[in-house]
Amino acid sequence: MRERQQQRRDRVEEWETRRRAKRSRNTGVRTHPAIGDAVVSGADDEFLLDPYECDLDSEQQGSIGEDGYSATVRSLLQSLESDTSNQTSFGSPPSTDNPTILDAETEPSRTTVYFASRTHSQLSQLIHEVRKTAYSEHTSVTPLGSRNTLCIHDPVRSLGNIQRINETCLDMQKSGLAANKRCPYFPNDPAALQNFQDHALAEVRDIEDMVQLGRQLHICPYYGSRSTLTESQWVTLPYNLLLQKSARESLGIRLRGNIVIIDEAHNLVDTLSQIYSCTVHLDHVNKAFSQLTAYFQKYKNRLSGGNVIYIRQLLSLLTALRKYLNSGGNRRISLTPSANDTEESS
Ligand code: SF4
Repeated sequence: MRERQQQRRDRVEEWETRRRAKRSRNTGVRTHPAIGDAVVSGADDEFLLDPYECDLDSEQQGSIGEDGYSATVRSLLQSLESDTSNQTSFGSPPSTDNPTILDAETEPSRTTVYFASRTHSQLSQLIHEVRKTAYSEHTSVTPLGSRNTLCIHDPVRSLGNIQRINETCLDMQKSGLAANKRCPYFPNDPAALQNFQDHALAEVRDIEDMVQLGRQLHICPYYGSRSTLTESQWVTLPYNLLLQKSARESLGIRLRGNIVIIDEAHNLVDTLSQIYSCTVHLDHVNKAFSQLTAYFQKYKNRLSGGNVIYIRQLLSLLTALRKYLNSGGNRRISLTPSANDTEESS
């Protein structure tokens, strides 16, 4: 480990020397194109739903056999059975389809300590304490955070709302976008990403240091920090990234065989309740009802039979919710969906 840390530091020093030499030759300021609107607006067809395929759609009724399953479900069950018989250990083998530079880290190469806390300031405190010890020279740490915390593309970061930041970032990665609509910091270049990894792991850094490093190297620290996961002995992360399965999967975090430390664990119950709950207000239901009604009026003649049925079902549900919320003076409902229904909020 010491040797690898030293190699990293050597590479960082070399890079710094090259950078200083380049700067002295060229004092120009590097600029990046502004993103403008990342969402490509199109004609009305863009919003037309694809036909929804369901086992109970009328066109598939004919294929339901005596076992009560459609051909699609039967083939899915067969593939699951054959997958299960081919597995020799718990869990699925990692996919090798379409590997990218960001997927390469999914297989952990050593025991990792995951340290979760409620806030980034508490995680930063831990990092500051680690720095004071004799171990900091030989310890590699990755501080993980959400795009909200790590995004360095100011037009996106200034959106403020985590959901909008996530969506806009993902929109900017869609294929077919003009270069000036893409995020200039997304790590497309493996050499630039390697340089970020070397810098990030050469010393113990907290989340703010990562943001600063990303700005200095012009590499997104959100994606950059994910790419250092397999090289790290310690990973610090907020509760939600540890507790949400979808977040762990998206980050390639595997807890099996690793060590998990939860700081101030008495906060866990509240945090879990917040993560897996949502509150629906009458205003939300009214807005959803009017928007879906307008959509249905506009597109109903162009929608498939299945989609018409499902939209009508949604409208019935919204009507029932409105009736309930209007009836009792209670203008909100708290819902606690199952873990599988939640989306990554990081
Ligand atoms: S790639 Fe990174 S810097 Fe760019 S928009 Fe996404 S989170 Fe922000």
